[in-house]
Amino acid sequence: MSAWEAVIGLEVHVQLSTASKAFSSSSTAFGAEPNQHTDPTVLGQPGALPVFNRAALAAALRLGVAAGCRIRDRSKFARKHYFYPDLPKGYQISQHEEPLCEGGAIEFYLDDRPHQVALTRIHLEEDAGKSMHHGAHSLVDLNRAGIPLCEVVSEPVLRSAEEAGEYMRALQKLVRYLGISDGDMEKGQLRCDANVSIRPRGEGTLGTRTELKNINSFRFVQRAIEHEIARQIRLVEGGGSVTQETRLWDPDASTSRPMRSKEEAEDYRYFTDPDLPELSVSEAEIEAVRASLPELPMARSQRYVDSLGLSVEDARVLTAEPDLSDFFDACVTAYGDSAGARAIANWIQSELLRELNRDSRALSECAMTPAHLASLVKLIDDGTISGKIAKQVFADVYRSGTAPEVIVEREGLTQISDSGAIEAIARTVVEDNPEQAAAYRGGKTKLMGFFVGQVMKATKGQANPKLVNQVLAQLLS
Ligand code: ADP
Ligand code: MG
Repeated sequence: MSAWEAVIGLEVHVQLSTASKAFSSSSTAFGAEPNQHTDPTVLGQPGALPVFNRAALAAALRLGVAAGCRIRDRSKFARKHYFYPDLPKGYQISQHEEPLCEGGAIEFYLDDRPHQVALTRIHLEEDAGKSMHHGAHSLVDLNRAGIPLCEVVSEPVLRSAEEAGEYMRALQKLVRYLGISDGDMEKGQLRCDANVSIRPRGEGTLGTRTELKNINSFRFVQRAIEHEIARQIRLVEGGGSVTQETRLWDPDASTSRPMRSKEEAEDYRYFTDPDLPELSVSEAEIEAVRASLPELPMARSQRYVDSLGLSVEDARVLTAEPDLSDFFDACVTAYGDSAGARAIANWIQSELLRELNRDSRALSECAMTPAHLASLVKLIDDGTISGKIAKQVFADVYRSGTAPEVIVEREGLTQISDSGAIEAIARTVVEDNPEQAAAYRGGKTKLMGFFVGQVMKATKGQANPKLVNQVLAQLLS
């Protein structure tokens, strides 16, 4: 174990998927030609006034309530000043003192155990535009400027790059379940700044931190943090000390470099935005949001593990997307007994996801319904078909959307569980293979597999394997 302990706090920006911007009516659609989605407010024209988009509040409330935050009945918008070409007003509308949400936590499984990461706050703000650099020229695209964001700030309680990665994944899953953002890192809908410090293990006070910017993929979250922890340890062990600064992560070179010394709150000259009224939220609004929340991903995972007996890994896969999780739940309901849950989970993971993946097909385009999968598992459980035949039936249902019992009936795939019929076939197999039978009786019991295989072949895989084994053991004894 290292003598150093890492301390990490993440600031994550979540782009909220509202139709229009946070303080004006321009579209937020992704992928338009540059500067198509602007208006006087976004451009910072004199006299233009912001009008807050309540849809952004609705989204932020969903997140705040889901994360168990305290929601302020009155919060304030502030101007955060800095100069950037992609911020024409010269300030960003954000929340500083008195943010919308405080406290709360993000929950996920870490090392197979339920785990919580405490939040400091979640506040609303607007996004800036984008600058693009082409050789000596820089171009500005303001389509993104003014899109509403939630900034989710964690307490400095994360202890490893891995934990930070899991936290980000949990947050992504949560915003998708809540339907407030697609959380696509590639499209910049989820962006992470990582604050990293180290301290001697056992030390109570925090060390000096650096802030890593520009981490734009899950792979890089972990890599950038690991790299920064190692850099700080090397620095301190070499007799140096960490300077508080903002560093830019360069994914191509897998390294970071200093960008600027860290600015302090006073540098931003925060003050309450005089153009915007206080943001008020009633108790009734909060309750309405609470009542409208779906079953959240962590609650779902815990239900799968605690009530349905799935492994944490199974729960992780099945809750990855809300529609997959809904599909699984519908299968268990159709099966009618939670005892079928593990078999259903296995079929989904081993067969269904593989087929969908191979065909690059979405679950919504799949011909197989939850009722189909439930009856397939039932047919196996009640001995109507063997597991081997079930794979064949599965492939047919997946292709055709025909109900499994219809296929079994039509193709005559019912398992042979009549021991008389099996014995007749087994007898023939033993008589046709006298040398193997003699060898078996002489002690080469490994040959049982050969005989079972022959009977299965003769019955096109339809004989009940348990009975086949029993009958053969008797005949060969
Ligand atoms: P800002 O970066 O805007 O100045 P804060 O000072 O509130 O904001 O801190 C932002 C983030 O940095 C939070 O996620 C917090 O947990 C984290 N943080 C603060 N101090 C440390 C530290 N010494 N080591 C690691 N993370 C820290
Ligand atoms: Mg910061």
